[in-house]
Amino acid sequence: MKIRSPIVSVLGHVDHGKTTLLDFIRGSIIAQKEAGGITQHIGATEIPMEVIEDIGGEFLKKLNIEETIPGLFFVDTPGHEAFTTLRKRGGALADLAILIVDINEGFKPQTYEALNILKMYKTPFIVAANKIDKTFGWQSNKGAPFLQSFSKQPQNVQEKVETGLYELVGILHDEGFESERFDRISDFAKQISIIPISAKTGEGVPELLAMLMGLARQYLKEQLKIEEDAPAKGTILEVKEEVGLGVTIDAVIYDGILKKDDTIAIMTMDNVITTNIRSLLKPRPLEEIRESKKRFQKVDEVVAAAGIKIAAPNIENAVAGSPLRVARGNIDQVKEEILKEIEDIKIDTDEMGIVVKADTLGSLEALVTLLRDMKVPIRAANIGDVSRRDVVDAAIVKKEDPLYGAIVAFNVKVLPSAAEEIKASDIKLFSANVIYQLTEDYQAWIDEAKEKKKKAYLDAIIKPAKIRVIPKLIFRNSKPAIAGIEVLSGTIKQDYGLIRGDGSKVGKVEGMQDKGDNLKSVPRGKKVAMSIKDAIFGKNFDEGDVLYVDIPENHYKILESELKNKLTEDEYETLNEIVDIKRKQDPNWGM
Ligand code: GDP
Repeated sequence: MKIRSPIVSVLGHVDHGKTTLLDFIRGSIIAQKEAGGITQHIGATEIPMEVIEDIGGEFLKKLNIEETIPGLFFVDTPGHEAFTTLRKRGGALADLAILIVDINEGFKPQTYEALNILKMYKTPFIVAANKIDKTFGWQSNKGAPFLQSFSKQPQNVQEKVETGLYELVGILHDEGFESERFDRISDFAKQISIIPISAKTGEGVPELLAMLMGLARQYLKEQLKIEEDAPAKGTILEVKEEVGLGVTIDAVIYDGILKKDDTIAIMTMDNVITTNIRSLLKPRPLEEIRESKKRFQKVDEVVAAAGIKIAAPNIENAVAGSPLRVARGNIDQVKEEILKEIEDIKIDTDEMGIVVKADTLGSLEALVTLLRDMKVPIRAANIGDVSRRDVVDAAIVKKEDPLYGAIVAFNVKVLPSAAEEIKASDIKLFSANVIYQLTEDYQAWIDEAKEKKKKAYLDAIIKPAKIRVIPKLIFRNSKPAIAGIEVLSGTIKQDYGLIRGDGSKVGKVEGMQDKGDNLKSVPRGKKVAMSIKDAIFGKNFDEGDVLYVDIPENHYKILESELKNKLTEDEYETLNEIVDIKRKQDPNWGM
């Protein structure tokens, strides 16, 4: 049995400093090369404990960490969007995470997204409040521990940093996390540590590494135990073509041992396949690359945690994010295991809902989880490019409910046949390579559609208006009665019912005409000829009468609750008059 290094990922909003932090950490290892035992992996950098002790020094000693953990294994492909969502059996590929936030900018959409993903996988994390060196007046002390550098800053600079930190504490609180500056934490089990850093000058990085070790010790005892000679388990980071090697798989091995002539099982779009490894490759140290011109060197085996490139036949269709397993004589069983693992994240789908597509298992799972949090129903969720079939699926839904006639696609292509079908059936397609953008765009579209629907609904509500029958302008007495009228307040519309001041019914507005034009609605101040269905002049109304719109009780209630502040002053007054008329007949009307 062996304890492996915890796998650490750095998450955060674009430009908040992920790459700079990883570069600094890598740079500091190269600088400290004499410490030995440094390993550069495919897609990862491993920092041995000795180096962390060297950098983290004093602070680490205070934390009193036993040296059972060999180091920290940083997955360093932050440009790879799907990376944040890489998974392994039962959770995230990363054992620990750094959520990096620009202290001057605070939380941004991708910060929230990253936090949601950490929540979803229950990944222990710390918060790096980055770019403290940009605080006005800050004097940098390259590579110094935060506490040391902070104590040398003028008071007003210290205060600015504290203000930024408390804003982060407030947001984290709203998101359900208690947090505190790392050196003021009273209960590590309950509070998230915030470490102020500068990825550029390295200030605070010693404490950042030390706190990660502390977190590993606190949460990861069991998780990090591996069998050194057990068949390897891993996750595919990327599938890519390399000159001279053909298609290769970049993978992170988190358990067991991978040997150069192992048989591995991996997932393709629709199947589990096995293949025999041709070669295992790791990056060549920088100085050797110059000599041999080859970027990779062959190795016989690797033990977890490791980042490795695998060359093997028939892997063109391997899926990033999919599990990788070594099979030793038990191929069927291993295939079964992989299928089961995928089954685990199989997404429950609804009859009515949107179609979701993504490039990897992890990104699909994350996208679906975020959409579910938004209460968006999902009809189908699959890995792969958007196909004609997906569009047909969405079109079926669209007929029932236009709001769900949509496809949300993360980091995949739209096949030509699908593009044609999208045009033909007018399906809404959301496509992006940032998850939060998809969820945001979809939400904006839904809000807009709902707004439109609501507007149409509120437009249909009968609004108050009042008219006067102009004396000596009766054109016809009945069937229908036609009279000249003037609109005194509000807007009178076709089909509105009319009542008199005593509440008695007059009839319905059948039509209105002005100089030969038929009008559907007439605003205040206008005079038109109006035909009133079912009304008889002299019986139901007279010259000079003031008539009111007959507002149905249920419409009145909606007016009261949702439209009150949209009424003009005169409409509002007229509404009150109508209510008085109605209540003379029924005191409880509209209550
Ligand atoms: P990423 O998109 O999260 O990987 O962000 P980058 O690491 O590319 O950083 C974005 C920009 O912010 C770059 O211009 C960096 O030089 C700058 N930057 C990152 N960290 C710091 C920092 O601690 N201090 C300052 N002053 N600039 C930083």
